[in-house]
Amino acid sequence: MDFDLQKLLRPHIASLKPYSSARDEYSGKEGVFLDANENPLGSITEQDFNRYPDPYQTVLKEKLSKIKKVSKERIFLGNGSDEAIDLLFRAFCQPGLDNVIILPPTYGMYEVSAGINDIAVKKVPLSPDFQLLPHKVLEEVDAHTKIIFICSPNNPSGNTLKRESILQVARDFQGLVVIDEAYIDFSVEPGFLNMLEQFPNLLVIQTLSKAWGLAALRLGMAFASPDIVAILNKIKPPYNISGLTQKTVTEALENSDKLEQMIREILTQKETLRKQLEKIPQVDTVYPSQANFFLVKVPRAKKVYQRLIEKKIIVRDRSAVQHCDDCLRITVGNQLENIQLVQALQDVLAEPFISEGVN
Ligand SMILES: *Cc1c(COP(=O)(O)O)cnc(C)c1O
Repeated sequence: MDFDLQKLLRPHIASLKPYSSARDEYSGKEGVFLDANENPLGSITEQDFNRYPDPYQTVLKEKLSKIKKVSKERIFLGNGSDEAIDLLFRAFCQPGLDNVIILPPTYGMYEVSAGINDIAVKKVPLSPDFQLLPHKVLEEVDAHTKIIFICSPNNPSGNTLKRESILQVARDFQGLVVIDEAYIDFSVEPGFLNMLEQFPNLLVIQTLSKAWGLAALRLGMAFASPDIVAILNKIKPPYNISGLTQKTVTEALENSDKLEQMIREILTQKETLRKQLEKIPQVDTVYPSQANFFLVKVPRAKKVYQRLIEKKIIVRDRSAVQHCDDCLRITVGNQLENIQLVQALQDVLAEPFISEGVN
């Protein structure tokens, strides 16, 4: 593979002089700190937040490094994975000139982030059984294609994409390949963290928003070569991960027993939910899932979605999305929530409008 990161980078980013924060210029812990215009007295809250946090999240990364078995030079932390995605556009994609490839049906933020950054999006749909078609993807690549976004396990279909197909794209594409593993903690299949050393063009994105149960803290992780991580660090807002998030997550990482326990419980609930959904006669398909949700095909999904909302059960209507006609995406809830969902869905699907086709 012939991969040249510097050639991929936008020229003005290569020559950019980054902001140097007070904490960049002196990072010692002891001293009289009169360099950042902070409040020396404390905070208006009971707990003190008056000092700026570590811009490079060193302590947190050391812990993550052990858990993920990836060296800390290969870890970038963002305010949610969405920040890492946005920074990739800003670092590598020239507005009005470059393009990226996405594989519908897929996570919506890639296209939104491309739009915000005025970057063209080429769409290469997955096959109807939601698999990556490596030849079709590679055919779409042109001289201005900078990033290919692959989501596995895929949102909204829930399946993993075949490993060999992903690797083929990573091998034959000279730009960046992003594998979004937001749901990897629920999957029985291995992710791609162990491929980073072999593929300097690979980024693996993970998040604490799903299995870890920390969506409100906003912590996304991008794992990549030290050179890519250095570029993202260069252009990120200096204090993108709050002190509260760094501290809370650093402590939470001690608690991996609870993580395992919650994942086991969700996977148990998931299997029960699958069986219950499959028992409803009007349910057409419950697609195979390696995530914490199911894509479910039902008659007249849009109407079913609205009727469920009237019953205060909120699922995601994906019926307008490629290959997802009449599909709802349903998150695995707790035991009670799943019982309520199944009951409501059963009731709605038994209503006359489903079989009679009246609005
Ligand atoms: C939920 C989700 C994310 C999470 O994004 P955060 O900004 O980290 O909360 C990322 N990618 C996919 C595919 C998701 O479904």
